[in-house]
Amino acid sequence: MKILLMGPPGAGKGSQSEKLVKDYELTNISTGEMFREAYRNNSPLGIEAMRYINKGELVSDEITNEIVRKRLLRSDAERCFLLDGYPRTVAQAEALDKMLEKMQSKLNAVINIVVDKQAILERMVGRRVCKSCGSTYHLSFKPPRVDGVCDSCGGELYQREDDQLDSVKNRLEIYETKTKPIIDYYSKRGILRNVDGMQSFDAVYKDIKQALGEVI
Ligand code: ADP
Ligand code: AMP
Repeated sequence: MKILLMGPPGAGKGSQSEKLVKDYELTNISTGEMFREAYRNNSPLGIEAMRYINKGELVSDEITNEIVRKRLLRSDAERCFLLDGYPRTVAQAEALDKMLEKMQSKLNAVINIVVDKQAILERMVGRRVCKSCGSTYHLSFKPPRVDGVCDSCGGELYQREDDQLDSVKNRLEIYETKTKPIIDYYSKRGILRNVDGMQSFDAVYKDIKQALGEVI
């Protein structure tokens, strides 16, 4: 099963993928998380990427396609994976098609989480992320049991720099101009399903499972 989870920043892709990868035994491939991990490890790629990320801009297609290409070649991505946050431009979608074609593979389903702009802003500004394991919380909608501490690993929670209002606005604009056109790209293939993301975590998850059942 090869799935792509789409939606604007803050739609709930990361939150839903945490459950999906466990239930369906998928390899989670989140380009945002890969860049953040590279930065945590002080790698030149991570440091270069973070210059764009913190401003709310996209990392170049070249760099991003290359890290995905390498990631897809690893054995744990051979059969089942879930892509979150990639592709984000039509050029990336085309590059992904070529990579998968070379592997004699293809995407089985694209799930697009639909959320309105006000909710996106609330979700991003209140988001807190674990420094150690990357788990996601929200100050109001999914608070940790102990303030500032990750429920899963005890790590410290922080606010991503790109979740500050200025970056958020930039990211939403980029989503509209660069990422949204991909919806059309996949819907023409008949593998795209829209899911209402303005519901509780559990209700969104239930709808995603139902949509996957329809396409796969
Ligand atoms: P994305 O990966 O799409 O950027 P996240 O999964 O990180 O989005 O979610 C963004 C923020 O919104 C997080 O703080 C998360 O806890 C919260 N959130 C996600 N889904 C919901 C939901 N259905 N209801 C309320 N808050 C949500
Ligand atoms: P995310 O964790 O998906 O919210 O991504 C955080 C940031 O990483 C984005 O705002 C971009 O700056 C960068 N990023 C993640 N995925 C991509 C991608 N596919 N193409 C370009 N930049 C990306």
